[in-house]
Amino acid sequence: MQIEFLGTGGFHPNERRHTACVLLPEVGIAFDAGTSVFRLAARLKTKELHVFLSHAHLDHICGLTYLLVPLLKGEIKSCRIYAGADVLTAVRQHLFSEDVFPVWPQFELLELERHKTYPIAGVTVSHQPLPSHPGGSRAFRVDWQNRGQKRSLAYVTDTTVDGSYTEFIRGVDLLIHECNFADSLAEWSYKTGHSHTSMVAQLAKESSVIRLALTHVDPSTPQDDPLGIDAARQIFPSTQLAEDGAVLSVD
Ligand SMILES: [Zn+2]
Ligand SMILES: [Zn+2]
Repeated sequence: MQIEFLGTGGFHPNERRHTACVLLPEVGIAFDAGTSVFRLAARLKTKELHVFLSHAHLDHICGLTYLLVPLLKGEIKSCRIYAGADVLTAVRQHLFSEDVFPVWPQFELLELERHKTYPIAGVTVSHQPLPSHPGGSRAFRVDWQNRGQKRSLAYVTDTTVDGSYTEFIRGVDLLIHECNFADSLAEWSYKTGHSHTSMVAQLAKESSVIRLALTHVDPSTPQDDPLGIDAARQIFPSTQLAEDGAVLSVD
């Protein structure tokens, strides 16, 4: 399974990072739809697209508007948007309000149901609410089998690590987790409902994941090592910082 990081920034784009989208091109699944969605159609390997939204903040949904043209051109044949009811309402009524973006692409909206899992193209997507971000967010987990072996990944963004989802992500082969702030700005992670470096590494260790990729980086820190990666690796050695365009593989 290929995992492509289309956008790895939070809040707004900068010269290095567009905002959130992680694409699984072989199965046509995307997590979030930030400004990096302009990269999506060219990388997608299926005709059907399934977009799971963590929440309705602009850095996670504005790229839905960019899907209009690939849908009109037939590069994408169908697009389903999966999210909580409040998020779907925000998308429909605000992002695609008459005055903001007056054309509704042929999206099919699906409200995520509590405890329900979603089988798509040989994988299963499950979800769990995350309470600590303003307005809430939602974590996703993907499970599949490869040559008889169980494989999995989790996508967790816009949350402070709070222990409420440790079991949900336990043992995944790849944990993609937001890390908006370095430890030196830890107080801001609590103020804004985000995470800082060492708390994410500690979570990776406690939940026995195999690998950790950090994403959703504060756009005011475009430097090579904005999060202090060594601090993370001292706690959880298999940590890396995701960059736009990075492709990981879980086989
Ligand atoms: Zn965000
Ligand atoms: Zn947010």
